[in-house]
Amino acid sequence: MLLLPRNLQPFWPAVKGEIFRNPAIAPGPRGGHTPCVEPFYDTHAHLTFPDFADDIPGLIDRAEEAGITRIITIGTDLESSQRAVAMAEAHAPVYAVVGWHPNDLDPAPDDVRPELRELCGHPKVVAIGETGIDYFRLPKDEAAAKTLKVRQEKYFRHQLELAIEQNLNVVVHQRAALEATLEIFEEYADQVRGQFHCFVDDAPAMRRVVELGSVVSFTGIITFKNAEEVREAAAAVPMEAVMVETDSPFLAPMPHRGKRCEPAYTRHTAEKVAEVKGVSLAELSAATCATAHAFFPKLG
Ligand SMILES: [Zn+2]
Repeated sequence: MLLLPRNLQPFWPAVKGEIFRNPAIAPGPRGGHTPCVEPFYDTHAHLTFPDFADDIPGLIDRAEEAGITRIITIGTDLESSQRAVAMAEAHAPVYAVVGWHPNDLDPAPDDVRPELRELCGHPKVVAIGETGIDYFRLPKDEAAAKTLKVRQEKYFRHQLELAIEQNLNVVVHQRAALEATLEIFEEYADQVRGQFHCFVDDAPAMRRVVELGSVVSFTGIITFKNAEEVREAAAAVPMEAVMVETDSPFLAPMPHRGKRCEPAYTRHTAEKVAEVKGVSLAELSAATCATAHAFFPKLG
């Protein structure tokens, strides 16, 4: 019998209505009042950013009221990863992803794996990341740009290797570097899945990601007027390969565009994704929550 590691186990579409019976999906783990709205998960937020310094309990309450019953907070370096784990320990609906962002590599030790490995054993660390390739803010100087590209690739590979070793999946950050990211990722794609987060590429790009067994997730950008291409990708993505997120504190969806974003706003993004896919909020809720549980096997 073929035994797949947990992070690669196939997704089974939720039976209609199951979401309201399955305690793994709804309501929130705090067991408090059950939101009478369809639950969604904010699969990518940065709760450790100073924007939220004094506001975590309030932010979690507002999220629960909006039906956002899980919040995954993402590390961008060792310190924020450690704080993400501490936050997950302190708050039942919060889970952590640990890793080094490609734009935050300056202080990274030569090998980031040993310290991240220690965090991976924590029951609420659900993936590695965010990691990937970002060519959007490369230095003008050609030699410096080349050096940074080499560093980004090295740490991306290291984190993919660590994820495989730990039977976890990877949260992928990619900006202006789709080809470079996929070229590296494809080498590992039979052993690890990627959440191509804040997906802003077109439908053909989405298909390349999904054909690798990976998933895409959409932020508030999908609600922006000029994001027609993103909506086309969302319309075309298979129901079992899509998740929603905020990338808080960034990218607040309409009607909050330009303000501080927070997990409660996942709802606006989910409403837009459901609208462009022509499905009900209940159907999108069931599909995205089931996809999240399959992708993040340690998500409670
Ligand atoms: Zn992020």
